[in-house]
Amino acid sequence: MRRILIVGGGYAGFYTAWRLEKKLRRGEAEVTIVDPRPYMTYQPFLPEVTAGSVEARHVAVSLRRHLRRTRIIAGTVVGIDHAHRTATVSTPDAPDRELEYDVIVVTAGAVTRTFPIPGVAREAIGLKHVEEAVAIRDRLLTAFERAAALPPGPDRKRLLTVTVVGGGFTGVEGFGELLSLATALLKRYPELSFDDLGFHLVELRDRILPEVTDKPGAWVVRHLEKRGGHVHLETKLVSAENGHVVLSDGTEYDNHLLVWAAGNQSNPVVAHHTDLPVDEQGLFRVRADLRIGTDDAPVADAWAAGDNAAVPDLASDRPGALVVPNAQNAVREGKRLAKNLVADLRGRRTKPYVHHSLGTVATLGLGKGIFQYRRIVITGLLAWLMHRGYHVLAVPTWERKVRVFLVWAAAAFYGRDIVSLLSVQHPRAEFVAATLGDRDRRVSRQ
Ligand SMILES: Cc1cc2nc3c(=O)[nH]c(=O)nc-3n(C[C@H](O)[C@H](O)[C@H](O)COP(=O)(O)OP(=O)(O)OC[C@H]3O[C@@H](n4cnc5c(N)ncnc54)[C@H](O)[C@@H]3O)c2cc1C
Repeated sequence: MRRILIVGGGYAGFYTAWRLEKKLRRGEAEVTIVDPRPYMTYQPFLPEVTAGSVEARHVAVSLRRHLRRTRIIAGTVVGIDHAHRTATVSTPDAPDRELEYDVIVVTAGAVTRTFPIPGVAREAIGLKHVEEAVAIRDRLLTAFERAAALPPGPDRKRLLTVTVVGGGFTGVEGFGELLSLATALLKRYPELSFDDLGFHLVELRDRILPEVTDKPGAWVVRHLEKRGGHVHLETKLVSAENGHVVLSDGTEYDNHLLVWAAGNQSNPVVAHHTDLPVDEQGLFRVRADLRIGTDDAPVADAWAAGDNAAVPDLASDRPGALVVPNAQNAVREGKRLAKNLVADLRGRRTKPYVHHSLGTVATLGLGKGIFQYRRIVITGLLAWLMHRGYHVLAVPTWERKVRVFLVWAAAAFYGRDIVSLLSVQHPRAEFVAATLGDRDRRVSRQ
């Protein structure tokens, strides 16, 4: 039995394992996935989680439920010594241990890129994981409750001020969804008015959404501004200390919710803790068939795909072009990798990964979206329906598709759920207050 180790059970890792389960003959190889999270996160739904349109659990696809023949280890790979075919795995309740393998597949993705801006580490929330999306949602919902209890003025305005840093896919979708939620909430809060809201999107470059061309990108800016958002282009976040935001265009204001979506950087394990070849960006150098190495120097028994790999883009005419790191590619790379790995085990030829983009589709809030495929651009409700249609079909397994769809169907009749569960972050607060005999039992729900 060959031992295949998959590092990371996200998009590329989950699909690699899923396809391996289908392709491998019984007794041919045993597959193990190591991931600190026992689920694959369907990240394209995270902006909708922040807006309460998709239930948080529904974007988490359980590895154990759907990968029945794969061994799952809830741990983090902290080092790979491919020369000795071992990976060091760290788990919460035991000392680090060495895991031996015959073939390794590294699909550990990327991590959020950060900069040393004063206040960011203390104040900001990323938008890459379920818990972050839930915290963003609950913070905004709780802010509405608290603001409604205040008289009009700067404190109220601060509570309802949101800043999203990063005008890429994640930032723009998150911003559009939060703005949509906030605008809809005003109907339930007659104490509050649209002027109490402050929504700022901050982007370093002179345009947003690099995945679409200039004109549709400019349309998105106009669209968000028409809805009351402030889009600061060619602007840097200078400081966010104690909730006071300072931007490089001279704007300053008090802010309550800071969402950090300024892109990705390489996974530190890939960049610094393996003896496998990486490029200047800290990504694995892979061949077009997803084997680590180059055509001249391929590495035996080592494969990589997804956001942690620099995959040659054979669909592009540009020499040296790399595949765009997104879900569209990670899924397909995972499937191709599994087929190539099995072919390699059986002494057959591998095939290169080639994928022509299906286009770009983004949500900008309930009923609003943008789609581009080459010169075809669709905006508004139709694009949003395409976004929903595409993603409900793309989320893996029918069980997840049905759950997501049923929540949307219920929301079409009853609206989205607007209860904040921020207090789950302090589950013992009430109990402790009761135990201590706290007379007025006021509990901080910051
Ligand atoms: C908010 C948001 C919206 C997006 N929307 C879209 C979209 O609409 N369309 C699109 O195409 N793309 C979208 N993307 C991008 C897409 O989600 C990523 O490109 C895709 O998830 C990459 O897949 P991956 O398998 O490489 O990494 P991931 O899916 O991030 O998986 C990596 C996995 O590795 C695990 N891991 C990390 N380090 C270790 C370690 N040391 N040991 C073990 N396990 C480890 C992680 O826990 C994770 O489970 C979006 C991303 C975000 C954040």
